Amino acid sequence: MRALVTVVSLFFLGAQAQHEWTYSGGLEEEQWPLEYPSCGGQKQSPIDLQRRKVQFNPYLKPLNLTGYGEEDMEFPMINNGHTVQITLPPTMSMTDSDGTRYIALQMHYHWGGGSSEVSGSEHTIDGIRRVIEIHFVHYNAKYANYDEAKDKSDGLAVLAAFIQDYAENTYYSSFISELANIQYPGQTTTLNGIDIQDMLPGDLYHYYTYSGSLTTPPCTENVKWFVLEDSIKLSRTQVLKIENSVKNHNNETLHNGYRKTQPLHQRVVEANFLYFPNKRQPGPHSFERYLLKKKKKKKKKKKVGARG
Ligand SMILES: [Zn+2]
Repeated sequence: MRALVTVVSLFFLGAQAQHEWTYSGGLEEEQWPLEYPSCGGQKQSPIDLQRRKVQFNPYLKPLNLTGYGEEDMEFPMINNGHTVQITLPPTMSMTDSDGTRYIALQMHYHWGGGSSEVSGSEHTIDGIRRVIEIHFVHYNAKYANYDEAKDKSDGLAVLAAFIQDYAENTYYSSFISELANIQYPGQTTTLNGIDIQDMLPGDLYHYYTYSGSLTTPPCTENVKWFVLEDSIKLSRTQVLKIENSVKNHNNETLHNGYRKTQPLHQRVVEANFLYFPNKRQPGPHSFERYLLKKKKKKKKKKKVGARG
């Protein structure tokens, strides 16, 4: 009888563990498709953004962010066992180049920290993983709420930004100090006196865009991704605090909460800026500058022609 009880309880333990997805141990990312078939699809995220293959689309307009800069707001924040998540008010929204409006729901972070050198962004650029990646999850405003939108083919949009270590960013001080209050999964706190727009990169105009999925189960393939070209700067100390402040369900420090990059398959990544691989200082280049360069080239050609 005892043996049977043990077998039965082991079975239940196993079943329980299978439902809780993880990045390592338990239902690991390679096994996600077993429980969540979409995770094995052809339009998965994150991906490696290969700049030489990105298609420049001069008709892509900048994103229009509404309500992001509102002050005197309170934002609930939770440790959900996978990441730190901040609830965003529906007064915050994002309109894309097509004029589709998406309402903000929540923002969360993906970081590394597994060892002192590990970065934790989900998207990589030319194979390089950035230190931290922030996701702002939105749903299409034509649906009543997230639950209604989450399974629709045009349901979701995520605005992503990278963090790199550089110097102390005082706009992140209160967020980082609040992490101590949500050390354990399920704990919540409230963020006061923060301005979400201040927590974003300075340049909100230049972005990569492609069709992908949620990067966590159920990996639904209905996400329009917007990855900002510019990054947020934090100090190394601030990065270390984000990486080492919160624990997972196993009472271990939450490290390396990112999914590996997925195959691009038939998809094309577009950007509203040009990439010049041979330029010494890489960075965003506007269409105007591109045209100016073209003009200059023409002039040069003319000169050469006149001489010859
Ligand atoms: Zn995410």
